[in-house]
Amino acid sequence: MPVEETPEKNAIMFVWFNRYAGILVKTPTKTLVIDPVDVKPRSLQNTDAILVTHEHYDHLDQRLVVEIQKNTNCRVIADQTSARSLKNTLPPNKLEEIRPGLETKIGEVIIKAEKSQHPAAQPVTLIITSEDGVKIFHTSDSLPFPEMVAIGEREKLDLAFCTVGIAPGATPETGFEIARLTKPQVAVPYHTNSQNDQRRFAEILKAQLPRTACVIPEQNKIYQVTKRR
Ligand SMILES: [Zn+2]
Repeated sequence: MPVEETPEKNAIMFVWFNRYAGILVKTPTKTLVIDPVDVKPRSLQNTDAILVTHEHYDHLDQRLVVEIQKNTNCRVIADQTSARSLKNTLPPNKLEEIRPGLETKIGEVIIKAEKSQHPAAQPVTLIITSEDGVKIFHTSDSLPFPEMVAIGEREKLDLAFCTVGIAPGATPETGFEIARLTKPQVAVPYHTNSQNDQRRFAEILKAQLPRTACVIPEQNKIYQVTKRR
């Protein structure tokens, strides 16, 4: 899975690497890894930052985070609960807490946390803005919530990852609702083991939100998304 290529200007590349919310984002200058579990540390050699959205087993594997951090000397940016459990295992200057409303920078790439509608301790969703202004909404395991409308209007999202399964209440319909509220240029159904559920998401999207494109990702494949004009 190592992503050898670099995205063009005004574009990003992403890889979905497990059946959950595991996403690698590569911008022209930085590589971010979100919620790494079920992935070989060897395939994540050039990581600049690991982002962790909440403490559930399908999002936080402490030993793996420590191993990737050791291999790459990357930063780790985590929700408060995950940060607390990682605290004694990482160099203190490499670990940062994030919570809804806060933002941080990896070089010129901006990471902003928003709330998450999911039964975890202090979960976050993440808005990533590349150095060229490509906007990505990683909704982690979240169900749709009303503030997503304002997020969509403010950010003008290029790409939104929408949970369609494996979390309490999550279905292709709730995943679609995230797309309907945030109106991204491209919506990606993830957090599922079911291609049927991904196809169902794509059908609803096509019927009800025809201006948003759907990408049904294959795991470990590289996709490029270009900023909308
Ligand atoms: Zn999950």
